[in-house]
Parts: sequence; structure tokens; C-alpha cells
Amino acid sequence: MISVESASEIILNEIKPLGIESADIVSALGRVLGEDISARGGNPPWDNSAMDGYALRQEDIKGATKERPVELKVIYDLPAGQTPKAQVNPGEAVRIMTGAPVPPGATAVVMVEKTEPTQGGAVKIFTEAKQGENIRKAGEDFRAGDTVIKSGSLIRPAEVSMLATVGVPFVFVHKRPRVAVISTGDELCDINEAPPTGKISNSNGYALASLVAECGAEPIQLGIARDNKESLKEKLRAAMTADCIISSGGVSVGDYDFVKDVLKEMGSSMIFWKVAMKPGKPLAFGVIGGKPAFGLPGNPISSMVAFEQFVRPALLKMAGRKDIFRRNFMAKLTKDVKIKPGRMNFLRAELKAEESGFKVTPLEGQGSGVISTMVRANSFIIVPQDSSGFAKDEIVKVQPFDSSVFMADKHGY
Ligand code: AMP
Ligand code: MG
Repeated sequence: MISVESASEIILNEIKPLGIESADIVSALGRVLGEDISARGGNPPWDNSAMDGYALRQEDIKGATKERPVELKVIYDLPAGQTPKAQVNPGEAVRIMTGAPVPPGATAVVMVEKTEPTQGGAVKIFTEAKQGENIRKAGEDFRAGDTVIKSGSLIRPAEVSMLATVGVPFVFVHKRPRVAVISTGDELCDINEAPPTGKISNSNGYALASLVAECGAEPIQLGIARDNKESLKEKLRAAMTADCIISSGGVSVGDYDFVKDVLKEMGSSMIFWKVAMKPGKPLAFGVIGGKPAFGLPGNPISSMVAFEQFVRPALLKMAGRKDIFRRNFMAKLTKDVKIKPGRMNFLRAELKAEESGFKVTPLEGQGSGVISTMVRANSFIIVPQDSSGFAKDEIVKVQPFDSSVFMADKHGY
């Protein structure tokens, strides 16, 4: 049996990032930038006021206090969005609004709360100011020509803000992988039929499509292939328009497990393993016509675990991501865990962030067909291949598979 780490390495060696395409910057959210973005101008473009108040010459108000204010002549009003009409000379001030360009000659802005207008068109200033006070300097954020976002960056709302600031409405991003999803099995019927005796719903097709979508990729649901080579080949031919193919079931050693044979017959450089993991031991992987094809196991939990460990990093790599693995956390076990050593175990668990740190509870019902445990879980406890388990209160490695651990039903201020 091959280890999880080796299988992952061999698979990822075959995966290349997809090409790039243009997208508007909001649609680009969650995707990976395929070009460096540089700024044509700086930000702010010019010195501007950080306050509503008076732009003035800092030396004119030296020694000003509430009791002994300095009086300056107000030469004009300067709202945001307008340009200065004249320079500020000794003894003068400009009534300025937040964001308006600082007029030439002015070296500080005094906030309106520390001033009082007079009847005769002047203003009393009640305080001193430092050189440059309340002035946002041109280029303090970035300068013209700076690279503001590097190629390979994940586009988050902050990157969208930056792109809009530098006036870029469209960017080149890596393509979203299109992923064909095939379920195999004579026992399967679609979810809009009531399963007759001996048949079950094709849950994997839907679970895998949603896992694909959660990766930011696009699922193409091809439905059910029956347990014969012709039916499988037909679905695989239909799958050739996609960038990646995943199937579930038919990879064990049963009489009707044809996935690996068919992948081979269709020209795939087939690799088939028993991977030393539980759940999810049988895994077929190949490349057909340059497209990676994953034959995942049929048991519902096995296919989800195998997707998480092997397919998800592959899809993220295709989408141009560098950070393709789930980050593991260390957490304190609330219960003993007994395991038969020999395979890496992924135990469905509930991870909780408490004041004292992360706590993790392995859930009852770890069978590879027990979906209710998966519904209650938010993470896997990772039990190394050679381990026979842990005692309560030991610190163990946990792989959260959704963000629920970081969310709460009350604010925590
Ligand atoms: P297999 O590897 O094809 O023998 O499948 C292993 C187990 O997973 C069997 O109990 C199947 O009924 C079940 N299974 C296979 N495919 C699906 C599917 N698409 N949805 C739900 N269960 C499945
Ligand atoms: Mg089957």
C-alpha cells in the first residue's frame, strides 16, 4: 500500500495550472491573478485633507490657545472634488473639507472643532499644529509605477478595492477548472425517483458536485454510468470536454468494478493504488488526453475524504493557487481514541474554539457509509499511519474542512 503523502505527491506532479482569461474584478473574487498589476498614478494622487477644517500655514498659528487665538482671513471654501483657487499666504486660511486637495502654501489642517468663524470673514484658531498635521501625503499608500498586486495572488475583497483604486475594471485570472462528475453503479437511481428495493440514491454525484463548487470550480454532473464497460466509456467520452474527471465507485476488486480497466482502455496512463488511509483505500488515478481523472471509492464518506485529500488540492493547483492544502490545527482531545495501526485514519470530529484553546471530539459512527456523522462533523482528526490512537487530553492534529469553527452565533467583543 502507498502512503497518503506519496499518493498526493505523485498526483500533484501531474497537475498544471490552467491558462488565463479576462474577468471583471468582482467576478474575479476567489480566483488567482495571472498578471502583475502596477499603478499608473500614486495614491493619494495629491496631498489632501484628512479632516473638515482650515488649511493654513503652520508657522502662522504658533502659540495659539483657546485664550489667545490667532485670527486668519478665510480666502475661500474648498469642498472635496474641487481644485484650489489660490495659494495660502501669510495670515490666510482656506475652509477645507475631508478629501479636498491641500492648497499650495498650506502646511497643516486644523480641525473645525478647534476653530470659530468671526463675523467679518475670518476664523479664530485655538490651537497650534504640527507641520503636515491632518494632511494625507501624496503617494503615502503607493506610488506611480509600484506593483500593487503580484501575479499569483488570490483575489479577495481587499484586492478588488486595490484594482478599483488603480482604475482596472478587468483582470487576467486563471480559468476555473470544469470538472465532470460521474457516478457508477447498477444499484444507483437518481434523487427524483423513489428507490425501488435493492436500489439507493446517487448521493455521491451531488456530494462531489458540491465539493467541486466549494473549491471555486465548475461541476458538470454527468449522472450515472452502469456497471459495464460500454456505459462507463460513454460517460467518459462525454467527460472529455471538461478539464478534470472524477468518478465514484467501481474501483474496488468486485466483479463489476471496471473503472480502472476502462480508464486504461481509453488511453490513460493508469495508476491504481490501495492508499494506506481509512476511509478511502482504493483510488484510481490517470491522465486521459492531458486531463487528470480520479476514480474515487464508492462509499459516500470514502469518496468525500479522498476528494478532500487528493482532488481538492489538485483543483486549487489547476486554478493557479499556491496554498492548496487545508491548514492543520493542534487541538486537545476530549476522549480516548483507539485505532488499528497501518493506515492514516481520518476521524470525523467536532472541533471547537474555546477560550482555553481548540478542543476536538471524535464522533460516534465512523463507518464509511455513515453520512449523519459527516453532517455533524466540521473536521477530521488525523491519526498517523503507525499510531494506535491517543489518550484523552493529548494534543492531536486536526484538519478543519469548513469555516464553522471560525463562526459564532454571538459577537465576541
Ligand atoms: P463500489 O466501490 O462501487 O462497490 O461502492 C461501494 C459502496 O458505495 C456500495 O455500497 C455502493 O452502493 C456505495 N455507492 C457507490 N456509489 C454510490 C453513489 N453514487 N451514491 C451513494 N452510494 C454509492
Ligand atoms: Mg459499484
